[in-house]
Amino acid sequence: MLDPMDVSPETIEAVLNGMRPSIPYAEPEMQDVHIELPSLSLIGQSGWLCHVCLRVPLADRRPWSWFGCERCRGVDVRVASLFGGRRLLPLGQHSIMNGLSIDIHNSTDLQAQAGADQMVAMSSAWQGLDRWHEHQIRIHVAQWREEHGDDDESVTLTQWQERYPPDSMASAMNYATLLDNHFPWVFEAAPQASDVLWLAGVQFDE
Ligand SMILES: [Zn+2]
Repeated sequence: MLDPMDVSPETIEAVLNGMRPSIPYAEPEMQDVHIELPSLSLIGQSGWLCHVCLRVPLADRRPWSWFGCERCRGVDVRVASLFGGRRLLPLGQHSIMNGLSIDIHNSTDLQAQAGADQMVAMSSAWQGLDRWHEHQIRIHVAQWREEHGDDDESVTLTQWQERYPPDSMASAMNYATLLDNHFPWVFEAAPQASDVLWLAGVQFDE
């Protein structure tokens, strides 16, 4: 297992370009992980639940952490492809994980401006993602309390995932609702992005 600091920008680029299957980390043991109520923070693992679907624990791998699980990132890649890009939402902690790798110190003025504009757009997208995440935490906790009572201070990851199983449709539906609430321009610019079955990668036989 590599130390997080050993993962180079070149490695991340290789992952983004499909040259490597994943960032080379060993996954932590998740069976002992609990989820604290009402914050939904992880106990027993440093990290967080996927900010899009809130169903998958993601390890803190600073500075190369993901805020979206593999399924949600897959949905994001699909939507980004409608715009000819590799990523739409900034689901990576580092800008180059989100497809931004312009060196604003070694570029022409025009490239530097384009890079700076992308950075500004990314931080505003982060704010939208944060608002979504906070709101989803409240909704999920309220739902859990309604179904299980107010007594639990934490639940096991297994219990959580039995109630909220990670799957492609959940990722697609959450992603679509996120866009609808915080980035509605996406549906106007690319109506296909509102097709949840397409987002989930559901294939139909002819
Ligand atoms: Zn997810």
